[in-house]
Amino acid sequence: MKFHPVTAPIIESLKKILEPSRVIVDKDTLENYAHDETPLYHTLPEVVVKPVSTDEVSRIMELAHEHVIPVTPRCGGTSLSGGAVPLRGGIVLSLELMDRIKEIDEKNFMAVVEPGVITEQFDKELARHGLFFPPDPVSSDSCMIGGNVAECAGGPRAMKYGVTKNYVVGIEVVLADGTVQKYGGKLLKNVTGYDIIDLIVGSEGTLAVITEVTVRVLSRPRYIVALLIPFMSIEDASEFTLQVLRQGISPAAIEFMDGEAYRLVQKYLGRTLPHYEAGTHIIVELDGDEHERIRQQYDTTGEIALRCGALDVYVGETSKDKIRIWEARKKMSDALKAETSPIAREDLVVPKDKIPRLITRLKTHVQSYDACLYAFGHLGDGNIHADIAARKHEHPDQATIMKLRKEIYEITVSLGGTITAEHGVGLSKIGFLSLAVSSEQIELMKRIKMAFDKKGILNPGKIFPGGDRT
Ligand SMILES: Cc1cc2nc3c(=O)[nH]c(=O)nc-3n(C[C@H](O)[C@H](O)[C@H](O)COP(=O)(O)OP(=O)(O)OC[C@H]3O[C@@H](n4cnc5c(N)ncnc54)[C@H](O)[C@@H]3O)c2cc1C
Repeated sequence: MKFHPVTAPIIESLKKILEPSRVIVDKDTLENYAHDETPLYHTLPEVVVKPVSTDEVSRIMELAHEHVIPVTPRCGGTSLSGGAVPLRGGIVLSLELMDRIKEIDEKNFMAVVEPGVITEQFDKELARHGLFFPPDPVSSDSCMIGGNVAECAGGPRAMKYGVTKNYVVGIEVVLADGTVQKYGGKLLKNVTGYDIIDLIVGSEGTLAVITEVTVRVLSRPRYIVALLIPFMSIEDASEFTLQVLRQGISPAAIEFMDGEAYRLVQKYLGRTLPHYEAGTHIIVELDGDEHERIRQQYDTTGEIALRCGALDVYVGETSKDKIRIWEARKKMSDALKAETSPIAREDLVVPKDKIPRLITRLKTHVQSYDACLYAFGHLGDGNIHADIAARKHEHPDQATIMKLRKEIYEITVSLGGTITAEHGVGLSKIGFLSLAVSSEQIELMKRIKMAFDKKGILNPGKIFPGGDRT
């Protein structure tokens, strides 16, 4: 399908749907919507619109559908797969002003929210009711619920609590032609026909625009303790993780930072961090309602760590100490951005016992490209983030980067893993989908896309290639 440009009459029509101040065409503002947090991707949209209601979204989609104009839905713009980049120009549909928490239903442990609610704000509001929303992407201070649902975001706590799809029980969407549909509700069980909710969660803005979400929430744990444990090697850290789980302890999170990545944060912060010489740093978070039980669990966890060769065990019980323990992990992205020149930012997942092999093989592999691998992420569920940076701050050419990335994915798949765990295929992994999914499966996915969006106007060029300009 050929797309049409956003002409002056289309802008006038948009200004009849929305207040004119929410139809944006000035170049400086468009620039803010030309990229997300993925390095190297940038395309200017022709217009940004900011609806405040489902009805406005519906009318915008109707107009775009009639005139075959590409639409990129967007919330916080923190995607790490180029998902929010308006590859074919057209309209960026920013849901940032649809930011109401419509209901917190304490009796049913449910909440109804609009897509533009910032994830951390949502959790803060829930805390006032003694509740919490477990999915906790590290970007939670700037990403939004709509983006979390569209990417099926995870985060450190996923190892105990699961990812976003485990919490979405109801959804309101606007389809490509402007039709509004609702699925599910405040229901914990629902097998009425195909599970369209699960199809839309993680669909990266390619099937429908999410305008309202009903999520399950949990009772907030009363105690949280964080442990920082340096090990000499990732092998020791991995053995520690397996032994903790075998002991029947269920940490909310087991995060890791490899030595090089940790030392990079140290450089960025400009001060000495504990045991900076270690090969791997682990953060364990334990949560629960009984203080004594948590204390027993962290004692046992500490003993296991020391038996597995830990250099030390730091325990954080107060807010101040917990913030200090998490600091290096939370600052990792900023440090990588400031101190390196990334050529790829990967989100790999393997069965968790394969993590040491994956990291060792990747580190050896990137050396032949004169590149460096900074690995960190969610050891507890086998999901590592690997930033690859050129050693000399000089980017290799695009063909070399693509070759290196392909080889990285082949290593990951050969270990039983896949090319993205929580960041999505988006734009950045589009050429590599067939390494992890068969051609028959890709065909089926394309047929699903067609069933939702015949003209292919929703986030074209994401997950698989699509659409061109007239
Ligand atoms: C420092 C940092 C740390 C991160 N840590 C994590 C982490 O721990 N776990 C994790 O999973 N991710 C993480 N991410 C990635 C990112 O934050 C998540 O993918 C997040 O869910 C994106 O939300 P957003 O609101 O920013 O979405 P956006 O970037 O705006 O959009 C993401 C995708 O969703 C689509 N979309 C957005 N809104 C809608 C909507 N209303 N309807 C339909 N489609 C929509 C877009 O088209 C795009 O494809 C991190 C990113 C950064 C920069």
